[in-house]
Amino acid sequence: MPPDGAWTAKEGIALIGDAAHAMSPYAAQGAAMAIEDAVALAAALACEPTSLAAALSLYEHARRKRVKRVAARGAFNRFTWHASGPVAFVRDRVLALRKPETLAADFDWLYGCDIGEP
Ligand SMILES: Cc1cc2nc3c(=O)[nH]c(=O)nc-3n(C[C@H](O)[C@H](O)[C@H](O)COP(=O)(O)OP(=O)(O)OC[C@H]3O[C@@H](n4cnc5c(N)ncnc54)[C@H](O)[C@@H]3O)c2cc1C
Repeated sequence: MPPDGAWTAKEGIALIGDAAHAMSPYAAQGAAMAIEDAVALAAALACEPTSLAAALSLYEHARRKRVKRVAARGAFNRFTWHASGPVAFVRDRVLALRKPETLAADFDWLYGCDIGEP
């Protein structure tokens, strides 16, 4: 998908999930993002009940930064998982030095995100 394409049209069209921003599989977040989109779209519609155009714009604005960050994480995973030679050596050294808890904490922004209000 073109990463910066429009996800909404003010006439009343909103794309969510893969239709808006299909991702590489390397972060395993395509379905998660589709669910988050649905929550964010519902919240935006509740927040702007009198203007569909404003609600759709709010939804798109609320989601774009996070979806971009998650897609970037997928691209990073793809790079590191398929690395070879010196890059793979450095990757393995870094992973060996890090504690599992701190590695897991690196993903708090991804798995601990509260979509909540737009
Ligand atoms: C092998 C694999 C593993 C995955 N693992 C994960 C994972 O671990 N975690 C994760 O978050 N994501 C994962 N994903 C990604 C995830 O499956 C997708 O990102 C997610 O299903 C997207 O949901 P969606 O509702 O946007 O699209 P879809 O699930 O593709 O739903 C679109 C629906 O629209 C229907 N449709 C299409 N055209 C029409 C039409 N003209 N009229 C009526 N209906 C139509 C389709 O039949 C389909 O049912 C994985 C994907 C694959 C392929």
